[in-house]
Amino acid sequence: MLNPNNLEEVNYKISMLHTEISNIDNRNDDKDRSGDAGINCPCHSLSEKVPSNNKHVLRHSRVIPIFWGHFYVTNPHIVAATIRMLSDIVSGPYMNGLAQYGVSRGTVLGHHTIDTVPPNSDPLILDRDTVRNTLVSWINSGTVSPAPAVNEKSLIYIIFLPTGSDITDSGAAGYHNFAKFNQDSFEDDLFWAVIVTKGNDDPTSAVRFANNIAYITSHELNEAFTDCDNQGFTTAGGCEIGDICESRDPTCSCCTKFNYNVKGRTWQIEPYWSNWHMNCINGNEPVSIRMFLKEIGINPSDGLRQLGTLLLNIDYIASRM
Ligand SMILES: [Zn+2]
Repeated sequence: MLNPNNLEEVNYKISMLHTEISNIDNRNDDKDRSGDAGINCPCHSLSEKVPSNNKHVLRHSRVIPIFWGHFYVTNPHIVAATIRMLSDIVSGPYMNGLAQYGVSRGTVLGHHTIDTVPPNSDPLILDRDTVRNTLVSWINSGTVSPAPAVNEKSLIYIIFLPTGSDITDSGAAGYHNFAKFNQDSFEDDLFWAVIVTKGNDDPTSAVRFANNIAYITSHELNEAFTDCDNQGFTTAGGCEIGDICESRDPTCSCCTKFNYNVKGRTWQIEPYWSNWHMNCINGNEPVSIRMFLKEIGINPSDGLRQLGTLLLNIDYIASRM
């Protein structure tokens, strides 16, 4: 069994990858740190169209949850509730507003619960390299599957950290990141998000556990889907659609949440920036056909027939963006 706290044994396996991925932390200015309002503060006052850059988005995301730590092994009801929250976000109406960025609703694949060895030995602090190397080692050992395909553009791993672990990005509640897994891929093909759960370790209410991290889960995913590798929707200053709307308070308070009702459940999650509205939206409203037609330069009075589709739904709209 792999010991995530002793990476010596797997380091040789990832040395091939190291050259390619060693620069990842230099490619952005840490705006993908979230939950720490001080970091994203300059984003809160932006009211400008977020440029598409190279339009690197995850159009049809397949999300693989990874629950890391003994807390999840002994509390499967926590895992189940968190997966429900995750599915409600990824495959629910929260995704509607992302159609404008070319992103459709996604799916949540089978999860992995991975113990620390020995149990109850959560690392106190996890830097980005350690998390990335651990994820790569899990994939290489088959502990986590599937692995990213060559030129992967849909798989993303979401790692719920051990409840005893903090991250080196002081004050942040999560981040998303990317690297190259397959040498044959033209571009980065490994995408993951990290959710901090430190101190969120009361096993008596699984719904409370999941809701406590719902806002950061929504934030990291709306950003990872629309800007998987810093070549998607992000401003020159590194503000992604979640950063702009996590708060509109220039004094940097964090975070704005709304009640997201889906399938009889309510999660408190974050709005995100809409280029179509030039404002923050909750995302779960119906997609505006009028705004869509305007965006692709079609006059509604000319009739929808000119679209050449029999089906005008959110997937179709996303496919045209
Ligand atoms: Zn962010």
